[in-house]
Amino acid sequence: MERASGAVLVLSGPSGAGKSSLINKIFNDLGDCYFSISTTTRPMRVGEEEGVHYHFVSEEEFKKDIENDFFLEYAVVHGNYYGTSIKPVKEALSRGKLVLFDIDVQGNTAVNNRLGDITTSVFITPPTLSELKKRLQNRSTDSEEVVERRVKMAKREIQRISEYDYLIVNDVLDDAAELLKLIAVTARVKMSNDEINNFVQEWEDI
Ligand code: 5GP
Repeated sequence: MERASGAVLVLSGPSGAGKSSLINKIFNDLGDCYFSISTTTRPMRVGEEEGVHYHFVSEEEFKKDIENDFFLEYAVVHGNYYGTSIKPVKEALSRGKLVLFDIDVQGNTAVNNRLGDITTSVFITPPTLSELKKRLQNRSTDSEEVVERRVKMAKREIQRISEYDYLIVNDVLDDAAELLKLIAVTARVKMSNDEINNFVQEWEDI
């Protein structure tokens, strides 16, 4: 996929890790950024809005978008489809923006396969599994069954932390936010293969 001078920052981690709170906290300090709003077939939670948290669609619509090659990546998470639309990401990258993704481990693999040279990835987790469970229960937007499913999933996801560039343990939100800001700054200056090749070429020509 073509790239101008933008960069990608992937954030993954179990639901309840506090990714959304972190993103909301630092978003205005990150400079020229685009947060990728995913498309999902999951039902809308209380407090969520169409086009803000997700684009909520039917399974039929989602499958049509897959056929039309609309997604940079998509995956089934907790039994629902989630996907990242290519078009707005391409546009944001061509404008030199830092593109933020909140996607799962499967999505991180797919994004790295396509945009690995401009991608920095961060896994965000609460300090312990019991803390995660407590946060999910306190959120009270999901049934006990859904909470259990998410906890089980978290145990599996945590096994794949080594696939990420950084790990942030979100214990104290302010500390985690400071760390994420630093990582976002470095993500922007990560050099793409094109930039490296051009630099070497120009350097030799001088
Ligand atoms: P939730 O239902 O709690 O909003 O999200 C469940 C999981 O789906 C989270 O781990 C979140 O990062 C992931 N997710 C959200 N959007 C996407 C997406 O577009 N692609 C992929 N692969 N995962 C996503």
